[in-house]
Amino acid sequence: ASDEKKLHIAMFPWLAFGHMIPYLELAKLIASKGHRISFISTPRNVDRLPKLPPTLASLIDFVKLPLPHVEYLPDNAEATIDVPLNLVPFLKKAYDALQDSMTLFLEDSRPDWLLYDFAPYWLPAIARNLGIPSAFFSIFTAACLGFLGTKAQMGERKSPEDYTVPPPWAPFPTTVSFRLFEVLKIFDQGVTGVEEEVSDIYRFGEVLQGCDVVAVRSCMEFEPEWLSLLEDLNRKPVLPVGQLPTTAYDSEDDTDSWRWMKAWFDRQSKRSVVYVAFGSEAKPSQTELSEIALGLEQSELPFFWVLRTRKGPADTEVIELPEGFEERTKERGIVCTSWAPQLKILAHESVGGFLTHSGWSSVVESLQFERPLILLTFYADQGLNAKVLDEKKIGYLIPRNEQDGSFTWDSVAESLRLVTVEEEGKAYRDKAKEMKRLFGDRDSQNRYVDSFIDYLESRNPSTTSEG
Ligand code: UDP
Repeated sequence: ASDEKKLHIAMFPWLAFGHMIPYLELAKLIASKGHRISFISTPRNVDRLPKLPPTLASLIDFVKLPLPHVEYLPDNAEATIDVPLNLVPFLKKAYDALQDSMTLFLEDSRPDWLLYDFAPYWLPAIARNLGIPSAFFSIFTAACLGFLGTKAQMGERKSPEDYTVPPPWAPFPTTVSFRLFEVLKIFDQGVTGVEEEVSDIYRFGEVLQGCDVVAVRSCMEFEPEWLSLLEDLNRKPVLPVGQLPTTAYDSEDDTDSWRWMKAWFDRQSKRSVVYVAFGSEAKPSQTELSEIALGLEQSELPFFWVLRTRKGPADTEVIELPEGFEERTKERGIVCTSWAPQLKILAHESVGGFLTHSGWSSVVESLQFERPLILLTFYADQGLNAKVLDEKKIGYLIPRNEQDGSFTWDSVAESLRLVTVEEEGKAYRDKAKEMKRLFGDRDSQNRYVDSFIDYLESRNPSTTSEG
């Protein structure tokens, strides 16, 4: 009765909601097949996760590991949304200090598989010593991992500038030009201004090299060339698990805020509104913010702009909207200064386009509801995501100055109009419809998760043993 055997899978995401949420979506899909999950995070993060459907609650066990105190890190800061970007290196330091408690947990519970994120560079070795098979589950696309290359290839590129040209192994046409502002800005100083003791590049290299398999939040139909490249480069199985479209993100379902928002959206005509949001971490500078605002104004389109904080990238400067902007646009625009129920908004039929920072979750959510994408990027994997989407004509990348990467209000306004209303941009709207089948379809999602589980079962010593 070996096919009766249910697996116990431990999952350990990085402390950012853009990571924890897709990990939880995967956990839910695996648990819905009857397997048991240990979902490991810190106490406060576990408490902040969306509630589980009652049918899965007994199969997903939350393991709370308290974060050790680290200098400069405020008490209670347990995820990237709790601190400005420049303190993220200290959050990583605290995360790395979970090494001992992770080891104890694994020794104690001996899961059949361990799935970890890019951050715990120390974990593959621990898993191996304990004889626990492990997978690096990447919430980043195969294109991002492929662009980085193997640990050895990363070692050969020394500076951020080295990443401004597609590496020889990348399946970009040679005509594709890259600039620093549109590549993977995961170099520590490029993101936080603080040199980290352990670089992100090092972390990626270690987990890619140390894992038994790579699982990717993607699918064959979307980036077949990158998925197979990844397998060739790393010489280990690469398993797409599907896009993991977000389900029930926010727990407060019918809050007052959604009620007034919905009333506003209901008053707009179908596919007319531009929804503008830059995820949980990206913060435009004052100049960028002003250009975005003027672009929205000039586009003459109705808009809903999530601008949760008026603080700048380092959290010190307070940034301002252009003088008179809110007054001039009050008839057709909303500036939302709180956390927005993004899924509900994207699901609303009045939304005609999404001006996004190109975070992978935002992209998945947009295409899940067939909303065409206007792409503007800030750091991390966003530039590369946008480049791939632009290459495949799935999204439209707002043009920037070739030299300094700046962009202006007129290109913002033109891009918004092109993708949402102009005749020449119809291809983007059609493409978004086509993509819905890939990004929002339950059956295709289930297919990927089923074959992932099949793989985990077949490679698990306790299910394949002869006796
Ligand atoms: N999000 C939201 N409301 C907001 C801002 C963000 O619901 O006001 C959600 C969004 O739906 C997505 C996630 O936060 O699920 C952001 O993830 P993404 O990968 O797009 O960007 P990141 O925050 O990781 O840069």
